[in-house]
Amino acid sequence: MKAVRKYGEGIKEWHLVDAPEPTPGPGEVKIKVAYTGICGSDLHMYLGNPEGPPDLIPGHEFSGTVVEVGPGVTEVKVGDRVTAEHTLEVCGICQHCRDGNYQRCAKRVSLGFNKHGSFAEYAIATAKYVHILPENVSLEEGALTEPLACALHAIELIEPVAGDKTLVIGPGPIGLLTALCLKAYNCQVDIIGTEQDKMRLEKAKEIGINVITSFDDASYDVVAECSGSQGGVGSALKAVRKGGKVIQVGICTKPIMVDFDNLIFKELTIKGTFCHHYPTWEKALKFEEMGILDVKPIISETLPIEKWEEAMEKLINKEGLKILLKM
Ligand SMILES: [Zn+2]
Ligand SMILES: [Zn+2]
Repeated sequence: MKAVRKYGEGIKEWHLVDAPEPTPGPGEVKIKVAYTGICGSDLHMYLGNPEGPPDLIPGHEFSGTVVEVGPGVTEVKVGDRVTAEHTLEVCGICQHCRDGNYQRCAKRVSLGFNKHGSFAEYAIATAKYVHILPENVSLEEGALTEPLACALHAIELIEPVAGDKTLVIGPGPIGLLTALCLKAYNCQVDIIGTEQDKMRLEKAKEIGINVITSFDDASYDVVAECSGSQGGVGSALKAVRKGGKVIQVGICTKPIMVDFDNLIFKELTIKGTFCHHYPTWEKALKFEEMGILDVKPIISETLPIEKWEEAMEKLINKEGLKILLKM
């Protein structure tokens, strides 16, 4: 099968190869991948972040059709249109697994990070983490369920209230999806980016998000920091009002310097958000099914898998939003 695969740990050491087709084991499902989105974490990996085995097939935001199920699988059947969480295995007995937050499990094994992912014609997922797409949700939209679940999980953790004045920092795909979620919760939403984000801010306007270029200090009830940059985190701490809330969505990847005393003098609540879990996925699919928000505008382009390199370069240059690879 066609697959984009790492051949080393270095920068851009990926290539399109003919990889062996996988077979599902007990509790596993083989999915013929239809679309797979490129995530910021894929870009980090492409640019040399050493994650997973050196011959890994990356990719974890996907949709497709079940073509084979392993022994004992009852959750889905051949022919089902699905998407799947990237969680493949967790320990099941730690505190986090027991309270349903298995994304925090130290033994979590992930599709596209520790084991082969979806930049391939076929992917193996764990049946209990596979989600069936509602009839009116297309395979393209289905491939955006993972990033939507990320955004929704962040919003659920920070618990905005209708009418809240909120700010999203960083208009990448997760930032825009976070903004759409805040809108869905009836909040007033502003978004801010940098000069480099011009095209992405245009898109924000198109989908009805208010773009701002500056803000009054201490003026927002809730700030969602989605840029993962020192400047972004610093701005979040400035923009949030006294007693307000900040959710850190963007990954900084390295230590940063910010004025952390804001936390004290403003009596802030600051939370982090990581991935998602089963209920958030089901809710994300409900949001798509009920048309509470539309993920389609977040897709900037769909390219065939053969053009994966062009897609990566475009995203490195911030020339797109969510690019889908078609298998
Ligand atoms: Zn992702
Ligand atoms: Zn666990």
